[in-house]
Amino acid sequence: MHFKTLLITALAAPTVLSAVNEPCYGTGSVAGVCLATADCTAAGGSSITGACPADAAGIRCCFKTSCTNGASGNCRWTSDCSGTSVANQCPGPSGMKCCSSSATGFGGYSSPTIPAVGACQAVAVNGASAVVAAWPGRVREIGCVRACACPGTSDHCCGKAVDLMCSDAGGTPTISGREIAEWVMNNRSTLNLKYVIWGQRIWNPSVDSVMAWNSWRSMDDRGDVTQNHWDHVHVSFN
Ligand SMILES: [Zn+2]
Repeated sequence: MHFKTLLITALAAPTVLSAVNEPCYGTGSVAGVCLATADCTAAGGSSITGACPADAAGIRCCFKTSCTNGASGNCRWTSDCSGTSVANQCPGPSGMKCCSSSATGFGGYSSPTIPAVGACQAVAVNGASAVVAAWPGRVREIGCVRACACPGTSDHCCGKAVDLMCSDAGGTPTISGREIAEWVMNNRSTLNLKYVIWGQRIWNPSVDSVMAWNSWRSMDDRGDVTQNHWDHVHVSFN
Protein backbone atom coordinates (compact mmCIF):
# COMPACT_ATOMS: atom_id res chain seq x y z
CA MET A 1 0.00 0.00 0.00
CA HIS A 2 2.83 2.34 0.84
CA PHE A 3 4.45 1.68 -2.53
CA LYS A 4 1.17 2.25 -4.34
CA THR A 5 0.74 5.59 -2.63
CA LEU A 6 4.21 6.67 -3.70
CA LEU A 7 3.58 5.57 -7.26
CA ILE A 8 0.34 7.50 -7.54
CA THR A 9 2.01 10.58 -6.12
CA ALA A 10 4.81 10.30 -8.64
CA LEU A 11 2.39 9.93 -11.55
CA ALA A 12 0.21 12.78 -10.35
CA ALA A 13 3.02 15.25 -9.91
CA PRO A 14 3.57 16.53 -13.47
CA THR A 15 -0.05 16.77 -14.64
CA VAL A 16 -3.60 16.53 -13.42
CA LEU A 17 -5.33 13.18 -13.69
CA SER A 18 -8.26 12.33 -15.90
CA ALA A 19 -11.45 11.21 -14.28
CA VAL A 20 -12.17 7.73 -15.59
CA ASN A 21 -15.85 7.02 -16.31
CA GLU A 22 -16.71 10.73 -16.28
CA PRO A 23 -17.97 12.73 -19.28
CA CYS A 24 -16.01 14.28 -22.12
CA TYR A 25 -16.86 15.68 -25.53
CA GLY A 26 -16.03 13.45 -28.49
CA THR A 27 -15.64 14.49 -32.12
CA GLY A 28 -18.35 17.02 -32.98
CA SER A 29 -18.94 17.61 -29.25
CA VAL A 30 -20.97 14.40 -28.98
CA ALA A 31 -21.25 12.73 -25.59
CA GLY A 32 -18.23 10.72 -24.56
CA VAL A 33 -16.71 9.06 -21.52
CA CYS A 34 -13.08 9.02 -20.34
CA LEU A 35 -11.89 5.43 -20.62
CA ALA A 36 -8.86 3.27 -21.26
CA THR A 37 -8.64 2.79 -25.02
CA ALA A 38 -8.89 -1.01 -24.74
CA ASP A 39 -12.18 -0.69 -22.84
CA CYS A 40 -13.43 1.75 -25.45
CA THR A 41 -12.56 -0.50 -28.36
CA ALA A 42 -14.13 -3.51 -26.63
CA ALA A 43 -17.42 -1.59 -26.38
CA GLY A 44 -17.34 -0.59 -30.05
CA GLY A 45 -16.38 3.02 -29.41
CA SER A 46 -13.87 5.42 -30.95
CA SER A 47 -11.28 7.40 -28.98
CA ILE A 48 -9.79 10.86 -29.36
CA THR A 49 -6.92 12.46 -27.49
CA GLY A 50 -6.95 15.77 -25.65
CA ALA A 51 -10.56 15.67 -24.50
CA CYS A 52 -9.95 14.20 -21.05
CA PRO A 53 -7.79 16.47 -18.88
CA ALA A 54 -4.17 15.59 -19.64
CA ASP A 55 -5.26 12.24 -21.13
CA ALA A 56 -3.34 10.62 -18.30
CA ALA A 57 -2.31 6.97 -18.23
CA GLY A 58 -3.82 6.01 -21.58
CA ILE A 59 -7.21 7.47 -20.78
CA ARG A 60 -8.97 8.85 -23.83
CA CYS A 61 -12.37 10.30 -24.63
CA CYS A 62 -14.46 7.40 -25.95
CA PHE A 63 -17.69 7.90 -27.88
CA LYS A 64 -20.06 5.77 -29.93
CA THR A 65 -22.55 7.44 -32.23
CA SER A 66 -24.45 4.37 -33.36
CA CYS A 67 -26.18 1.69 -31.29
CA THR A 68 -29.40 -0.29 -31.51
CA ASN A 69 -32.45 1.60 -30.28
CA GLY A 70 -34.53 2.70 -33.26
CA ALA A 71 -33.21 4.34 -36.39
CA SER A 72 -31.14 7.01 -34.62
CA GLY A 73 -29.76 5.14 -31.61
CA ASN A 74 -26.69 6.82 -30.13
CA CYS A 75 -24.73 6.55 -26.88
CA ARG A 76 -25.17 9.39 -24.43
CA TRP A 77 -25.71 10.20 -20.76
CA THR A 78 -29.24 9.38 -19.64
CA SER A 79 -29.84 12.96 -18.43
CA ASP A 80 -29.34 14.12 -22.01
CA CYS A 81 -31.66 11.62 -23.68
CA SER A 82 -35.12 12.87 -24.58
CA GLY A 83 -36.21 9.41 -25.74
CA THR A 84 -35.81 5.93 -24.32
CA SER A 85 -32.49 4.57 -23.03
CA VAL A 86 -31.28 0.98 -23.43
CA ALA A 87 -28.44 -0.48 -21.37
CA ASN A 88 -25.47 -2.71 -22.28
CA GLN A 89 -24.62 -1.20 -25.65
CA CYS A 90 -22.36 1.67 -24.74
CA PRO A 91 -18.87 2.21 -23.33
CA GLY A 92 -18.36 3.37 -19.77
CA PRO A 93 -20.56 3.29 -16.68
CA SER A 94 -24.28 2.56 -16.47
CA GLY A 95 -25.20 6.22 -17.04
CA MET A 96 -24.07 5.92 -20.68
CA LYS A 97 -26.90 4.23 -22.56
CA CYS A 98 -28.21 3.83 -26.08
CA CYS A 99 -30.66 6.71 -26.60
CA SER A 100 -33.48 6.39 -29.13
CA SER A 101 -33.44 10.08 -30.03
CA SER A 102 -30.87 12.11 -31.91
CA ALA A 103 -32.33 15.34 -30.45
CA THR A 104 -30.03 17.26 -28.15
CA GLY A 105 -32.39 16.57 -25.31
CA PHE A 106 -30.71 18.77 -22.72
CA GLY A 107 -32.80 19.92 -19.77
CA GLY A 108 -36.54 20.25 -20.14
CA TYR A 109 -36.81 21.20 -16.48
CA SER A 110 -39.38 23.44 -14.83
CA SER A 111 -38.11 26.88 -13.84
CA PRO A 112 -36.02 26.51 -10.68
CA THR A 113 -36.63 28.52 -7.52
CA ILE A 114 -34.42 31.60 -7.53
CA PRO A 115 -32.77 32.12 -4.10
CA ALA A 116 -33.97 35.10 -2.09
CA VAL A 117 -31.60 38.03 -1.57
CA GLY A 118 -30.28 37.84 1.97
CA ALA A 119 -27.71 35.28 2.97
CA CYS A 120 -27.42 34.75 -0.78
CA GLN A 121 -26.01 38.06 -2.00
CA ALA A 122 -27.79 40.16 -4.64
CA VAL A 123 -24.97 39.72 -7.16
CA ALA A 124 -25.41 35.92 -6.99
CA VAL A 125 -29.21 36.10 -7.14
CA ASN A 126 -29.07 38.42 -10.14
CA GLY A 127 -26.52 36.20 -11.84
CA ALA A 128 -28.58 33.07 -11.34
CA SER A 129 -31.68 34.85 -12.65
CA ALA A 130 -29.82 35.95 -15.77
CA VAL A 131 -28.61 32.44 -16.53
CA VAL A 132 -32.07 30.92 -16.05
CA ALA A 133 -33.59 33.57 -18.33
CA ALA A 134 -30.98 32.93 -21.01
CA TRP A 135 -31.23 29.11 -20.78
CA PRO A 136 -34.86 28.21 -20.14
CA GLY A 137 -35.37 24.59 -19.11
CA ARG A 138 -31.66 23.94 -18.65
CA VAL A 139 -31.22 24.62 -14.90
CA ARG A 140 -33.09 22.21 -12.64
CA GLU A 141 -32.07 23.58 -9.26
CA ILE A 142 -29.95 26.40 -7.80
CA GLY A 143 -27.78 26.23 -4.68
CA CYS A 144 -26.22 29.35 -3.17
CA VAL A 145 -25.37 29.58 0.53
CA ARG A 146 -23.44 26.84 2.26
CA ALA A 147 -23.11 26.60 6.05
CA CYS A 148 -19.46 27.57 6.55
CA ALA A 149 -17.51 30.51 7.96
CA CYS A 150 -17.27 33.61 5.74
CA PRO A 151 -14.71 34.26 4.43
CA GLY A 152 -13.90 30.60 4.02
CA THR A 153 -12.74 28.01 1.54
CA SER A 154 -15.69 28.60 -0.78
CA ASP A 155 -17.56 31.63 -2.07
CA HIS A 156 -20.71 29.70 -1.11
CA CYS A 157 -19.84 30.48 2.53
CA CYS A 158 -20.43 34.18 1.80
CA GLY A 159 -23.45 33.75 -0.47
CA LYS A 160 -21.46 34.89 -3.50
CA ALA A 161 -21.55 31.70 -5.58
CA VAL A 162 -24.26 29.60 -7.19
CA ASP A 163 -24.37 25.96 -8.28
CA LEU A 164 -26.56 25.62 -11.36
CA MET A 165 -27.64 21.99 -11.38
CA CYS A 166 -28.19 20.95 -14.99
CA SER A 167 -28.69 17.17 -14.95
CA ASP A 168 -31.57 15.00 -13.76
CA ALA A 169 -30.08 14.58 -10.26
CA GLY A 170 -27.03 15.48 -8.23
CA GLY A 171 -24.24 13.03 -9.08
CA THR A 172 -25.77 12.27 -12.49
CA PRO A 173 -23.55 13.51 -15.33
CA THR A 174 -24.52 15.62 -18.33
CA ILE A 175 -22.66 17.47 -21.06
CA SER A 176 -25.29 20.24 -21.02
CA GLY A 177 -23.28 22.70 -18.92
CA ARG A 178 -20.62 23.68 -21.43
CA GLU A 179 -22.80 26.15 -23.34
CA ILE A 180 -24.01 27.68 -20.09
CA ALA A 181 -20.46 28.02 -18.75
CA GLU A 182 -19.23 29.66 -21.96
CA TRP A 183 -22.23 32.02 -21.86
CA VAL A 184 -21.23 32.99 -18.32
CA MET A 185 -17.71 33.74 -19.56
CA ASN A 186 -19.06 35.86 -22.42
CA ASN A 187 -21.29 37.82 -20.01
CA ARG A 188 -18.61 38.24 -17.33
CA SER A 189 -18.97 42.02 -17.00
CA THR A 190 -22.74 42.07 -16.63
CA LEU A 191 -22.57 39.20 -14.15
CA ASN A 192 -19.63 40.67 -12.18
CA LEU A 193 -17.99 37.29 -12.57
CA LYS A 194 -15.16 36.13 -10.31
CA TYR A 195 -14.75 32.68 -11.90
CA VAL A 196 -16.76 29.85 -13.46
CA ILE A 197 -16.19 26.07 -13.34
CA TRP A 198 -17.56 23.37 -15.63
CA GLY A 199 -16.39 19.85 -16.39
CA GLN A 200 -13.14 19.88 -14.39
CA ARG A 201 -12.08 23.18 -15.96
CA ILE A 202 -12.00 26.73 -14.56
CA TRP A 203 -12.08 30.18 -16.16
CA ASN A 204 -11.22 33.40 -14.32
CA PRO A 205 -11.54 36.77 -16.11
CA SER A 206 -8.68 38.27 -14.09
CA VAL A 207 -6.13 35.78 -15.45
CA ASP A 208 -7.66 34.06 -18.51
CA SER A 209 -8.44 35.35 -21.98
CA VAL A 210 -11.74 34.48 -23.63
CA MET A 211 -11.55 31.03 -25.19
CA ALA A 212 -13.59 27.89 -25.75
CA TRP A 213 -14.24 25.74 -22.68
CA ASN A 214 -11.97 22.92 -23.87
CA SER A 215 -9.02 25.30 -23.58
CA TRP A 216 -9.83 26.44 -20.04
CA ARG A 217 -7.39 25.47 -17.29
CA SER A 218 -7.95 21.88 -16.16
CA MET A 219 -8.40 21.07 -12.49
CA ASP A 220 -7.27 18.07 -10.48
CA ASP A 221 -9.54 15.04 -10.37
CA ARG A 222 -11.51 15.54 -7.16
CA GLY A 223 -12.97 12.07 -7.35
CA ASP A 224 -16.61 12.25 -8.41
CA VAL A 225 -19.07 13.72 -10.88
CA THR A 226 -20.25 16.47 -8.55
CA GLN A 227 -16.80 17.50 -7.27
CA ASN A 228 -15.56 17.55 -10.87
CA HIS A 229 -18.53 19.70 -11.92
CA TRP A 230 -20.16 17.34 -14.41
CA ASP A 231 -23.66 17.85 -12.96
CA HIS A 232 -23.54 21.60 -12.29
CA VAL A 233 -21.96 24.86 -13.35
CA HIS A 234 -20.33 26.71 -10.44
CA VAL A 235 -20.32 30.51 -10.74
CA SER A 236 -18.52 32.77 -8.24
CA PHE A 237 -19.20 36.51 -8.22
CA ASN A 238 -17.20 39.52 -7.04
ZN1 LIG B 1 -20.33 25.60 -6.17
